[in-house]
Amino acid sequence: MGGRATQEAVVVGGGVAGLSAALTLVRAGVSTCVVERTDYSPWRPGETLSPVAFAELRRWLAPEPLETEGFLASYGLEATWGSEEPHHHSFLTNPYGRGWHVERRRLDSLLARHAQSQGVALWRNACVTHLEHEGRGWRLQASTPEGPRQLHCTVLVDATGRSAQVARYRGVRRQTHDKLCSVSAIVDRPPSHEEHLLRVEATPSGWWYTAPLPQGRLILTLMSDVDVLERHNALRPEGWSALLARTRHLTRGLGGLPAVQRLHVRPCETSRLERAAGEGWAAVGDAAAMWDPLSSSGIVKGLRTGQAAARALLASLRGDREALEGYAREREEEFSGYLEARHAHYAQERRWAGEDFWRRRHAPAPSPHMALGAA
Ligand SMILES: Cc1cc2nc3c(=O)[nH]c(=O)nc-3n(C[C@H](O)[C@H](O)[C@H](O)COP(=O)(O)OP(=O)(O)OC[C@H]3O[C@@H](n4cnc5c(N)ncnc54)[C@H](O)[C@@H]3O)c2cc1C
Repeated sequence: MGGRATQEAVVVGGGVAGLSAALTLVRAGVSTCVVERTDYSPWRPGETLSPVAFAELRRWLAPEPLETEGFLASYGLEATWGSEEPHHHSFLTNPYGRGWHVERRRLDSLLARHAQSQGVALWRNACVTHLEHEGRGWRLQASTPEGPRQLHCTVLVDATGRSAQVARYRGVRRQTHDKLCSVSAIVDRPPSHEEHLLRVEATPSGWWYTAPLPQGRLILTLMSDVDVLERHNALRPEGWSALLARTRHLTRGLGGLPAVQRLHVRPCETSRLERAAGEGWAAVGDAAAMWDPLSSSGIVKGLRTGQAAARALLASLRGDREALEGYAREREEEFSGYLEARHAHYAQERRWAGEDFWRRRHAPAPSPHMALGAA
């Protein structure tokens, strides 16, 4: 089995960031292939589309409308953060309108179908196993359901999320600034629970969020550092449920604590590549930089960096030698701004300043060059 294909651009990873890059490239007339490891059926985190993310997506898909069937309108946020009582933030006055609660794999697969309808070649269930910089382009090998295949291209986009596989292959290191990890359970939502809002609650050992999901379900997530989670046995249902029982507002309207058997664990540390682009390649979305889910902006960042990287690659194809360097510099500046905003946000919660999770986040805002480690 085997096969060779030549495309001007290959995007490794078909999440929101990769698909945004692919759409930008193909709309500019560049033949583009997305290699995606899954068929979009496994669970994916990131269920709330902020009003600005929704506006961006709608613009992306225009002139086709963004199907919102199966999405739940989101009217705002309730946050218990920095005080005992919750604060409400309504999207009613948001200039971008309301947000949406989505099933993430459905959103990504909808975007993938749209990309295909625009001419993007999409290899599902295909995983890049080897890549080599060859002359002025790239040679990739992928395992696909039809057997191993080869791909040749001139430019490459790393959209593989946290693993940043292309950058890693290029020897670019990743700086990490914390050890944040999410532990989520998906449970049935009682029919009486009709609140369409994101609820966030700070606790001594980290923070929680809950959001309604389509099809009568609800996600409950604990965010904390890996060592704190381990200390509380919170990577397992018993320890996680014990911490959930200590929240004050989170489970309101659920009629008691849900019984949880299965947890989804995802490392989501604040981190960035030391260099988000190089000759003939650029990293986008979480591959370039992971932001704390508290920012609720991973999807919009993915869409925007996908577009920005594609533009820089297009410029480099036209002979602009500065474009990719400029893209990498912008990511570095953006990350500095994000670190400051993250510090200011955590500084608002002072009730448990002595607890490891909060103490670490109250330390002076780190410079983007000062990190816990590089890998
Ligand atoms: C618990 C949690 C909650 C979050 N909540 C929100 C939220 O409410 N709103 C929000 O905006 N953001 C949220 N985020 C962040 C958001 O989910 C991410 O920022 C976003 O998914 C990043 O998109 P991406 O395309 O860069 O990467 P990903 O979504 O990780 O996509 C990477 C893709 O690459 C594929 N891939 C990986 N390796 C290979 C390979 N070798 N070959 C082929 N394909 C490969 C994967 O299958 C995947 O499809 C949350 C994150 C977490 C962890």
